[in-house]
Amino acid sequence: MSEILVHKHTRREFRNRMQSGELKACIIPVAAIEQHLEHMAMEHDWRSVNVIAEGVASRLAPQVVVAQGLMAGISEHHMKHIGTLSLTPATFMAVLGDLIDSMARAGFTNILVLNGHGGNIAPCNGVWDQFLRRFQINLQFLPYWDVLTVEDAELLQSRSIPGHAQEFETAFALAEFPENVRTADVSDQPDPEPAMATEENGRVLIDRTIERVADFLQGMIDGSNVIEIPAFFE
Ligand SMILES: [Zn+2]
Repeated sequence: MSEILVHKHTRREFRNRMQSGELKACIIPVAAIEQHLEHMAMEHDWRSVNVIAEGVASRLAPQVVVAQGLMAGISEHHMKHIGTLSLTPATFMAVLGDLIDSMARAGFTNILVLNGHGGNIAPCNGVWDQFLRRFQINLQFLPYWDVLTVEDAELLQSRSIPGHAQEFETAFALAEFPENVRTADVSDQPDPEPAMATEENGRVLIDRTIERVADFLQGMIDGSNVIEIPAFFE
């Protein structure tokens, strides 16, 4: 069996895979449901991070599963645009901590929190040392676009990654879920960057991202990419 989503297993299936030692790592995606300019559906960050998470888990099958994490994120700065769903940092961290705890108690010692929303980064970086002391496992946080380089950005006219609903994110959507892009509205707004997006560039950047996040996670599994757990106060 190489099901990649935790919630699609029965308890027997999951228990058998875990106890056999087949499952080596778990990805917990976190994202946001928030305004993405005038032309993109608000689910973008959640949808995109799951494309990467599931692509990585498929590439590393049968070692990796995805535990669906937090679709809403820390988006207070987008609340001017109604429809955005925002969690306060305290709520976000409380739920994320509980999800990590659940997967750690399932037996995972390698957990990757894969992030798809910029607003989650600073709050997560701020508490990560606390999570590491608490869980004592190889627990890492990675915004998925961090694996893309300046050379990758040169593929884009704007040379900007990730941006917000601009060329990179629009290209991503055109390549994976084009129904989320309202073509008629792309140019009907002040920001000129979304109109630069192409499906082809989106495809190339998604493939590179999946390959490199898979390398990152394989390193966690192999023991070549292990985060240092900070010491306790003596
Ligand atoms: Zn976004």
